[in-house]
Amino acid sequence: MFSADQAWRSVLAHARPLAPVRLPLAQALGRVLRTDVHAGSDSPPFDASAMDGYAARRSSLGGPLRIAGEVQAGNPFSGKIGPGECVRIFTGAPVPPDCDCVIKQEDVSRDGDRIRVRQTGAPDFIRRQGENRRKGDLLLPAETSLGPPELAALASAGIIEPKVAPAPRVAHVVTGNELISPQQIPASGQIRDSNSTLIAALLQRHGSDLVAHTRTRDDLEAARAVVGELPVHDVLLISGGAGVGDYDFARPLLEALGYTLHFQAVNLRPGKPLVFASRNDRLAFAIPGNPVSHWVVFHLFIAPLLSHLQTGAVAGPARLLGKLAAGSPLPPADTRHTFWPCRATIVAGAYELAPLPLAGSGDSSRLVGANALLPIPPPPQSLDSGLPVEFIPCP
Ligand code: AMP
Ligand code: MG
Repeated sequence: MFSADQAWRSVLAHARPLAPVRLPLAQALGRVLRTDVHAGSDSPPFDASAMDGYAARRSSLGGPLRIAGEVQAGNPFSGKIGPGECVRIFTGAPVPPDCDCVIKQEDVSRDGDRIRVRQTGAPDFIRRQGENRRKGDLLLPAETSLGPPELAALASAGIIEPKVAPAPRVAHVVTGNELISPQQIPASGQIRDSNSTLIAALLQRHGSDLVAHTRTRDDLEAARAVVGELPVHDVLLISGGAGVGDYDFARPLLEALGYTLHFQAVNLRPGKPLVFASRNDRLAFAIPGNPVSHWVVFHLFIAPLLSHLQTGAVAGPARLLGKLAAGSPLPPADTRHTFWPCRATIVAGAYELAPLPLAGSGDSSRLVGANALLPIPPPPQSLDSGLPVEFIPCP
């Protein structure tokens, strides 16, 4: 049986980052840039005034200055400014080439078309051409995640269709004769399907497109027909039926669909009967049905895979340092590699980790508040509160 690390390496070995696409800026929020972007021009593109005031020659500041004209942002001054002259100027307006300083309006006294400078030792108040960035400078490196400031930087550089990683397309097939929709009232033996909502929300958080979601009975032929109807996808997630029970048909289903199985169990708790398979560039997981297993497996393997498909990043889940909160109900020791859902909070500037009191892994409401996983590797151990621990943040 694979360890969690071996399982992640196996996933990586069969995954290839998706081919980049060009997207308009309005659709690129949250996407990952796939090429370096260089500045196409200097920034600022011309010497610009940093103040509302008057542009002049520093050598003329000792005497009165005649206002020879006005220059506004977006409207360059075409005349000449001689000695003893100045020009009214506003923030962002191009500084006329004859001038070498801007005097802010608070530092002059004005009388008609004349000014006198009260404060001659002030800075130039000119934003010099190229002082932020030169044409050709690196603006954004590949793999930058495009948030609002990055999109604005692309807009200011005139890059309106950046080359980005597409959202991975994920199809989700939920299996189980006992499952009904959340809006239905369970009859005897039935439970509401919560994994569909969980997975849809997790995929949205992780920049992926849920291209299809469908539920099927525990019936190989029915499930095969359902999968055959799915639109094009990069990742197939099958919820439930991953074990080896008589009605667990996820493995035969994947095999019947032409997938090669790479692992069929991982030494973890919860989530042990996890199946991973591939067919050409298409990847598939069969995830044990209980909701806590879903949440754990998603953060250990599926979220890092979705990131790899977009960025090529090979690191598994990120780890942070914290300490166990006092009085935490600790998970019972186990021989498997445990990944326990926790609530991480910042207390006095440091992370504190409170393991959630999960009775079993079948109840999704027990996950409420979870935002981290605490890895507890074998051999079985008990942990003391206050102990420094590494944890996996689960945004
Ligand atoms: P399975 O892996 O199919 O044997 O399912 C394991 C447990 O998870 C069973 O108790 C199921 O009823 C429960 N389960 C399976 N699928 C879902 C789902 N979509 N939503 C909520 N619970 C589920
Ligand atoms: Mg089932």
